[in-house]
Amino acid sequence: MTSQNKKIINKKRIYYFSSKLTEGNKEMRELLGGKGANLAEMTSIGLPVPPGFTITTASCAEYYDAEEKLPTDLMDSVYENMQRLEKETGKYFGSSDNPLLVSVRSGSAVSMPGMMDTVLNLGLNDQSVEKLALITGNERFALDAYRRLINMFGDVVMGIEHHHFETVFDKIKKRYKANRDSELGIKGLRELIESYKQIVKEHTRKKFPQDPYLQLQLAIEAVFRSWNIPRAITYRRINDIHGLLGTAVNVQSMVFGNMGDESGTGVAFTRDPSTGKNEFYGEFLINAQGEDVVAGIRTPLPVKAMKKWRPDIYWQLLKVKKILESHYRDMQDIEFTIEHGKLFMLQTRIGKRTGPAAVKIAVDMVKEKSITQSTALLRVPANDLNQLLLPSFDPKAKRNVLATGLPASPGAASGYPVFTSDEAVSRAENGESVILVRRETSPEDIHGMHAAAGILTSTGGSTSHAAVVARGWGKCCIAGAGELNIDVKRKKIQVNDVTITGKDIISIDGTSGEIILGDVRKCPPNFSKEFKILMKWADKKRKLLIRTNADSPKDAKIARDFGAEGIGLCRTEHMFFGDQRIIAMRQMILADNQQDRRLALKKILPYQRRDFEGIFTVMKGLPVTIRLLDPPLHEFLPQDEKSQRQLARSMKVPAEKIIKRVYQLHEVNPMLGHRGCRLSITYPEILEIQVRAITEAAINCRRKRIDVQPEIMIPLVGIESELSVLRELVENTIARIKQKKKFKGKLDIPIGTMIEIPRAALTADQVATHADFFSFGTNDLTQMTFGYSRDDIGTFIPEYLNERILEKNPFQTIDSTGVGQLVEMAVKKGRTTKPKLKCGICGEHGGDPESIVFFQSVQLNYISCSPFRIPIARLAAAQAVLLAQ
Ligand code: ADP
Ligand code: MG
Ligand code: MG
Repeated sequence: MTSQNKKIINKKRIYYFSSKLTEGNKEMRELLGGKGANLAEMTSIGLPVPPGFTITTASCAEYYDAEEKLPTDLMDSVYENMQRLEKETGKYFGSSDNPLLVSVRSGSAVSMPGMMDTVLNLGLNDQSVEKLALITGNERFALDAYRRLINMFGDVVMGIEHHHFETVFDKIKKRYKANRDSELGIKGLRELIESYKQIVKEHTRKKFPQDPYLQLQLAIEAVFRSWNIPRAITYRRINDIHGLLGTAVNVQSMVFGNMGDESGTGVAFTRDPSTGKNEFYGEFLINAQGEDVVAGIRTPLPVKAMKKWRPDIYWQLLKVKKILESHYRDMQDIEFTIEHGKLFMLQTRIGKRTGPAAVKIAVDMVKEKSITQSTALLRVPANDLNQLLLPSFDPKAKRNVLATGLPASPGAASGYPVFTSDEAVSRAENGESVILVRRETSPEDIHGMHAAAGILTSTGGSTSHAAVVARGWGKCCIAGAGELNIDVKRKKIQVNDVTITGKDIISIDGTSGEIILGDVRKCPPNFSKEFKILMKWADKKRKLLIRTNADSPKDAKIARDFGAEGIGLCRTEHMFFGDQRIIAMRQMILADNQQDRRLALKKILPYQRRDFEGIFTVMKGLPVTIRLLDPPLHEFLPQDEKSQRQLARSMKVPAEKIIKRVYQLHEVNPMLGHRGCRLSITYPEILEIQVRAITEAAINCRRKRIDVQPEIMIPLVGIESELSVLRELVENTIARIKQKKKFKGKLDIPIGTMIEIPRAALTADQVATHADFFSFGTNDLTQMTFGYSRDDIGTFIPEYLNERILEKNPFQTIDSTGVGQLVEMAVKKGRTTKPKLKCGICGEHGGDPESIVFFQSVQLNYISCSPFRIPIARLAAAQAVLLAQ
């Protein structure tokens, strides 16, 4: 146990909440969990919340530290607080004339919808159920509550799989001709309860516990245990949640939504979590208990239908929406229950939302003067902008619509239907796009939902846990498509008279709810006006310039449209591939002398010149940094003998010549071999041809009055003298071309270097004497600093991450403690030589929000990332400034 945990533990273990006394508040999420902290907060702002108390997350940590034993005096404090609760409610826990029932609810600091366990109606036993029937005058209700308790308790606490209960329930319902759960009468319920008790006995050899305090203790332990059930662990892994103490336990007096037709239960979002529209969005069920809505077992009514059922409650809820939004200043996800026409609030939390909704809500709330621009910028997770950049189905494309369900999470996905989560994972790993098709998704499906391109269910509403989780990930989801008949065993879907198997592609439109046979053409995204506004705010705040990595006019154009302020990395290797060029390139590699090499390279010149002209034209007015050839030469020759012989025939040279050359070029460790600037030192003609193509292209553009700003970047420098030699060669070549082309205009081409070898970082002050700019190649720098070959990490990195030997994959998020020191040092040293030295980064890390925070902190001038990550980088760069304030 860390000393920090100990400190917390020595304090109070239980926090009470009621209108008379509230000990917690919304700032105490870490200790009370989100649910507990917000129950306390809602209570203290005067909303109707059934009273109860919260056992701290620190107690959960203690439970695990003691090898799954409750802290010794915990139950004593529970007992004290139960007495307080009894006094306040005038009801008594146990078989009194007026029994108190409680729920035992999980809830950690970070919300994990449906991943952990909850038990309702605790405190009922064979005697108190009769008393409850008597005092409420509603025998059906009391029995319904009891059967729910045995089922939930059996499932959550005693580990009996839910389907055992389900099967018996279905049988009895059939016998009594009850279509819905709520239609089963008193006799049927009594029979059901007996059968349930039998199931408990058969599976555990124990009777269903009659002592309410024993029930309570076992339930508390079960909730603690649920912190570490597989689906909760998977959820935390996928969502990168760690460092938490555990789950809190909320013990709360019950209110009943299953007391008849004036009762009900529901879930709502204060704004539409799919689109962000400022509309009350929710669902409810009449005569039901909460689990029924969120578990997605029954398809509920939209909350608007409440206007007809109980308009007074509907207006009351709208008032609650207003109170909560102005209090929390963010969209809330609420759970409520109506007992005999009286509304109770059971939960509120910051609502999960899609990327587009996050943007709209943030911008709208600024307009409503509820939050500031800076808060709005911080509120949108930069990576979630990804969802705004995804394609949607082309509205003009033909659609063979099979059925329509509830649009639960927007987006467009096509793929093969799969019927189990394990299949979803294995087929997705094989590179297939799959749609997870389920009757309902349970939290157990978390891994399959994550692997699938989209999720489709035949029951459940759009506030079910499945839908909430899908929206949090921005994953397309349709729920409650009742026309689908899903046959999991035979892996088939029957819709009207069409049968779909695992071999047919289907498409789902999460915006319209349409399920479509076959693939549908997709089209690029349409940016909302809120997105453009948010980007404008981001641009005002950020200090880093955002460039892109692009090596074709097409990519350059996309990047420019996304707001790129130049190209930070234009790789030239692709310019040596392509039909004609690769032939010339191979001739060059096979040539025996420099003259023949020059001859071969000359054939590539016109192609490259044209490439550069294209890119310069698209990027006119903005800098374009071109990296000279980087990969080793053997990448341009075929490696297997069959292709080598084929190549020999087409080039009309003896096969042995090629085989021998490949052999010569073979390297044990190509990443550390003959590549980068080392190539230019040994084959200066390769450098010359590229510089010539760049300079000629620039001159041609200038003559057409296109404002070009090329920059030449030399890769893999480790020693100052490499750069000084190559710089001179580049300068001489440029001068020669200018003269030859009789170009008298102004054309300054800055010459810089990549800093990607640790030695270059260590000697950056020397390197800077020959460099007009630095660009950090953080992929190679990470590789060489860790000593990890990036192509070989697959064998151990997953284990390192699992075992938490590494917190993060250093190729995804820059290792600011190690590799970061080299970056920081190189910037500082470089600027001691040249105070205004321009520094940027062009590795993969340029598009990673967390890394961008680091790059801002070491005062780089720009970052460069792939075109589709530009909006993310723009936002993340603004967030980096705000976070530093
Ligand atoms: P989850 O975290 O899975 O949403 P909750 O603890 O929120 O689990 O419980 C699920 C549902 O059970 C709630 O939405 C609510 O409707 C119902 N519930 C929980 N506690 C009570 C209570 N004290 N009275 C009535 N219903 C409750
Ligand atoms: Mg809940
Ligand atoms: Mg590199």
